[in-house]
Amino acid sequence: MPSLFAGLDILAPDPPRMGHGLEPAANCATPTTRVRSWARNCTIIRIGFHLQLPVPARLMPIDLALVDRLDALLPQTQCGQCGHGGCMPYAEAMARGDAAPNRCPPGGGTVIAALAAALGQSPLPPDPACGAHKPRALAHIREAECIGCSKCVQACPVDAIVGASKRMHTVLAALCTGCELCVAPCPVDCIELLPHARSRMSATESDVARMRHRARQQRLDGERLRLQRDTSAVNAAGDAQALQAALARARARRASDPRP
Ligand code: SF4
Ligand code: SF4
Ligand code: SF4
Repeated sequence: MPSLFAGLDILAPDPPRMGHGLEPAANCATPTTRVRSWARNCTIIRIGFHLQLPVPARLMPIDLALVDRLDALLPQTQCGQCGHGGCMPYAEAMARGDAAPNRCPPGGGTVIAALAAALGQSPLPPDPACGAHKPRALAHIREAECIGCSKCVQACPVDAIVGASKRMHTVLAALCTGCELCVAPCPVDCIELLPHARSRMSATESDVARMRHRARQQRLDGERLRLQRDTSAVNAAGDAQALQAALARARARRASDPRP
């Protein structure tokens, strides 16, 4: 637990930085979730100050510059092996002090060393609970066996699979990070992982993967919001209909009641 908030009102975090390359975004931190997180942090800190309460570390403001530095060191496969929803959530957990910098199997020892240096810590051996480091793979769909269910499209965090419903699907090799997330959902087991020509992702490939993942998250956020809005509209329409029916029943009762 961090210390009490006596006299710490000035700890209210800086406003969220926009236009710093995080515009689209995560099951990791979208700009929207970052703004919400910032607003929540401000509220919690001010309440904490007034009530003199300790606040859990996970609710403390995050050093966004550190998060960006850590995220820039991660491979961006978005595979989730670190136990977080993607590279950005893992970077945030490390910046909060909630996660050790040895949980990224795709990054291996090089990334562990870089993360530890950025955090001012000594490098740890890789956490075996997260899986072993493997050379980069490339997903390949055996197209003759594909039934076009699109489950792989829903699973791919960087939109590297294309195909229409009930039609053959294919992997865009230049965009595949080898995260393996498409393999398990395939009901006919027609996705295989082949060795990639390059054993690691280049910095440019990681940047592209980060951008595509954030764009995907933003699109999914938008779809969720639209669904919520449509559901509310349907509920409101249903409520209005129920109200009209109740009024009609009341009017009918009044009309049939002989009493003045
Ligand atoms: S690449 Fe590393 S940091 Fe990114 S999601 Fe996978 S394990 Fe986590
Ligand atoms: S195609 Fe499969 S392995 Fe490649 S990025 Fe998408 S989900 Fe990962
Ligand atoms: S999950 Fe398998 S069967 Fe379904 S579209 Fe993808 S490759 Fe084809």
